[in-house]
Amino acid sequence: MVKFKDVHKSFGDVEVLKGINLDLMPAEKVAVIGPSGSGKTTIIRMLMTLEQPTSGSIIVDGENLWQMEKSGRLVTANEKHLRQVRGDIGMVFQHFNLFPHMTILQNCMTAPIHVKQENKASAKARAIEMLDKVGLGDKLDNYPSQISGGQKQRVAMARALVMRPKIMLFDEVTSALDPELVEEVLEVIRDIAHEGRMTMVLVTHEMEFARDIADRVLFLDKGVIAEQGTPSEVFGHSENERLDSFLRRFR
Ligand code: ATP
Repeated sequence: MVKFKDVHKSFGDVEVLKGINLDLMPAEKVAVIGPSGSGKTTIIRMLMTLEQPTSGSIIVDGENLWQMEKSGRLVTANEKHLRQVRGDIGMVFQHFNLFPHMTILQNCMTAPIHVKQENKASAKARAIEMLDKVGLGDKLDNYPSQISGGQKQRVAMARALVMRPKIMLFDEVTSALDPELVEEVLEVIRDIAHEGRMTMVLVTHEMEFARDIADRVLFLDKGVIAEQGTPSEVFGHSENERLDSFLRRFR
């Protein structure tokens, strides 16, 4: 479905990703863990097509997203394919980025109407369905300033889900929340994961949660996938000292 082949990424002189090879399977749930600065968000941004690699290939549904120009610069291989790929991906960030002047319902209707040209009635029905799914069916007419951080994050999830993404990316979605609000957000992600259909990639510091929902865990360290496997392989005894010392912080 998505394949990274020897993907490198530099910002200026700093090489942040140093040869990432990754195969994402349909419906797979992948948790990405690792120390701060190891490149987790950069991988997510590449999956989102917001960043392009400095070298290497990203192949989605059998087609390269980027191609090398004669100058050595990577450019879009096929605009139409890139747009299609973007349409298949939903993303939830640490900060919710809701539109403050719109109600919760309006926040979830804008993208289907303006990006997918859906009619208003069907966008509204879908938005209500997804807001119900995340447990906010009674907050449709509230504004973001009137709800808690956990609720805002659930709106952000509903807003992504209305677009019917094939892949959902979650980047540390609970790190900006007060501890008592974390569980309600994780619960919604767990529900989506257990439905099974969607491919999910989650950058998280919630190790119990990763263990619970992931099919595969990647440990990213200094720009490389230093370890990967099932949750029991990665969270069990590891020969990798860096992984061991990283996990000790969460015990
Ligand atoms: P954290 O857990 O702290 O969010 P991370 O593992 O997600 O970290 P990234 O955000 O991917 O790490 O960043 C990896 C490195 O790349 C960091 O050193 C960061 O400063 C650098 N970096 C990321 N984006 C840019 C950019 N646009 N310009 C320059 N440097 C960048």
